[in-house]
Amino acid sequence: MKRRNFFGKLSMTVSGFLGVNSLEAQSQNLNSNPKRLTNSPLSIATWNCPEAILISGKLMEAGISALDAAVKGVAFEEANEKNTTVGIGASPDQSGCVTLDACVMDDKGNCGAVMAVENILHVAKLARKVMEDTPHVNLAAAGAEEFAYSKGFKKTKLLTPASKKRWEAWSQKSNSSPKINVENHDTIGMLCLDDYGNLSGSCTTSGLAYKMKGRVGDSPIIGSGLFVDNEVGAATATGLGEAVIKTVGSFLIVELMRNGCSPQKACEEAIQRILSKHSGKTDFQVGFIAINISGEKGAYSIHKGFSYTYFKSGRAINTSSASFY
Ligand code: ASP
Repeated sequence: MKRRNFFGKLSMTVSGFLGVNSLEAQSQNLNSNPKRLTNSPLSIATWNCPEAILISGKLMEAGISALDAAVKGVAFEEANEKNTTVGIGASPDQSGCVTLDACVMDDKGNCGAVMAVENILHVAKLARKVMEDTPHVNLAAAGAEEFAYSKGFKKTKLLTPASKKRWEAWSQKSNSSPKINVENHDTIGMLCLDDYGNLSGSCTTSGLAYKMKGRVGDSPIIGSGLFVDNEVGAATATGLGEAVIKTVGSFLIVELMRNGCSPQKACEEAIQRILSKHSGKTDFQVGFIAINISGEKGAYSIHKGFSYTYFKSGRAINTSSASFY
């Protein structure tokens, strides 16, 4: 696609996701604050998601907050049928039902999450509603779905013909426990640092493909799949959720940064912690990304094959993460 067409399409997408009036209003609102950082805005996300990163980066360039940018950015991947582990077109559980998990966390330490939600596409936005419009942090399953309808979310069929076909092929040849290997994951975790020095993040997934019904991984668990502390930095995870939960991976990385580690060193240390708890059994993948409040970034994974995308000078750059193996 020609560059101009791409950006034309992108700006329509951005306006579509946000609404032009709302974008202007929020921009005016934030522009009344002084710019605090020179190396901002920064957005970074797990895997290869250039459109999501351009949306979040350009929103922040327009003066939109890190929280809005993080929720709007991942919404692109939630609506992308080709992404088989987020939103529409994602792999279902063993029973053929697509259930989604997501969470968000803002610069003030507010957070919200939804788990095992059926029929709702934009679950990161729904997690934000839980954060802003309820006294709770977590809403699960039917309760989260009912809450979504009460907030005007539309019922969406998340199982597409393609994802149904893949599930049918899987169920004919296998009833074994699903594994997260090096390929089988794609959770989008996004961290944003806006021009006013504020951090926020979002994390959205369908979890492990062909998981047990009711299984919830790390992605919607605050501290595991995502953690943000505006004084220090933020981290998010992808890969085998059970391993991330057991070490409270994202919280661990933020605490390591609080104690002086760079984002890169903190991600490496968190992967080491997972490896040391699994005594050499490493047939699964975990990847972390992190940023600190100065805008430095880091990424590390157990195995090769993990990449991340970040926003720099108006462009989305995808790059391979360093890995233990
Ligand atoms: N972390 C996700 C989970 O365990 C899976 C993934 O990253 O694909 O649910």
